[in-house]
Amino acid sequence: MFVYADNAATTKMSRTAIDAMVPCFEKIYGNPSSLHSVGQEAKEVLEDCRSRVAACLGCESREIYFTSGGSEADNQAIISAARMGQKKGKTHIISTAFEHHAVLHTLEKLKKEGFEITLLDVKENHNVTAQQVKDAIREDTCLVTVMYANNEIGSVLPIAEIGKVCKEAGVVFHTDAVQAVGHLHIDVKKENIDMLSLSAHKFHGPKGVGALYCRRGLPLVNVIEGGAQERGKRAGTENLAAICGMTAALEEACTNIDSNSKKVAALRDKLIAGLGQIPHSALNGDAENRLPGNVSFCFEGIEGESLLLMLDMQGISASSGSACTSGSLDPSHVLLAIGRVHDVAHGSLRLSLCEENTEEEVDHILKVVPQVVQTLRNMSPVWRDLQTGKRTYIL
Ligand SMILES: *Cc1c(COP(=O)(O)O)cnc(C)c1O
Repeated sequence: MFVYADNAATTKMSRTAIDAMVPCFEKIYGNPSSLHSVGQEAKEVLEDCRSRVAACLGCESREIYFTSGGSEADNQAIISAARMGQKKGKTHIISTAFEHHAVLHTLEKLKKEGFEITLLDVKENHNVTAQQVKDAIREDTCLVTVMYANNEIGSVLPIAEIGKVCKEAGVVFHTDAVQAVGHLHIDVKKENIDMLSLSAHKFHGPKGVGALYCRRGLPLVNVIEGGAQERGKRAGTENLAAICGMTAALEEACTNIDSNSKKVAALRDKLIAGLGQIPHSALNGDAENRLPGNVSFCFEGIEGESLLLMLDMQGISASSGSACTSGSLDPSHVLLAIGRVHDVAHGSLRLSLCEENTEEEVDHILKVVPQVVQTLRNMSPVWRDLQTGKRTYIL
């Protein structure tokens, strides 16, 4: 049996999205900036996509800027708000300790320029509260950037409440909603979101395309200089095929949010209940406010990498929180941020589901994972020390 359970990393494209792209390769191949009819036809398709994406988020067409994906949208949003703040002498930014690197690394760059960054603690419930944001806002705060839902542990943040706090304080609010768009109901106006990043390949669209919603009146700064595409805010000939695929995938996902999330959450809950039976394990992420497809655990006494390789041999594609970079094993910053110690953080497993996963697949995972965890523990010197009392259990 083959089970793809890494939908938080990327998703398989839907038939609808693929079908929406094909005409752009065969018929609508013009450059939307060209004045002739072939170009103008492409321009019309582009603007049609813009208004359809806007409708899915509850904003106006002119508030949507197409980008190369979530990372670019995050960079542009944060840099733009920072430059706006700088002009007014405001150089303090609030974010959380478990953001995606597209946000954290952009903030680190700004810090080197002299910005002051407050990263909110996420240990309590593996989430943040609007009160934490409120308490952190200062006179010189120019931006709050808080993710909608966490990609590793699935916590869904109280975005509408944070939006309200930011609005009352007059601070720009950006959210990296890459994991939430197409999976949760979002209305940028009702939730007082000023800027929002999304990425197509997280909801069965193509890779390399995304969008930034930016509230009218907020000035964007270019991160890519060149032509006057995207109303002068993002240079480069539009990737129309990808934009068409994204638009179709987004509409399909948004239409089916309720039925998909009900189905996926039931599979998630079965997995969480089953894997929770493994001794010395712990669920990562907010148990209540959680993405429908996210299952994240730490298992004491094992290495996540070995677990993944053994699962792959059994046909299960999953992910671990830890990233192995150039020989050094760095545990996930997200797991460290929620308070997992290094040893525990190394033994992590993320299973991320979509509506195409089945109950049979979940049963297969529930059969294989406990066996593999046991096999790895039997080979682990750390586990032996725990069993003989040389080390004490943390979980
Ligand atoms: C995947 C992801 C990104 C990056 O999106 P790309 O389109 O791959 O650049 C950013 N933030 C979160 C939360 C993500 O899950």
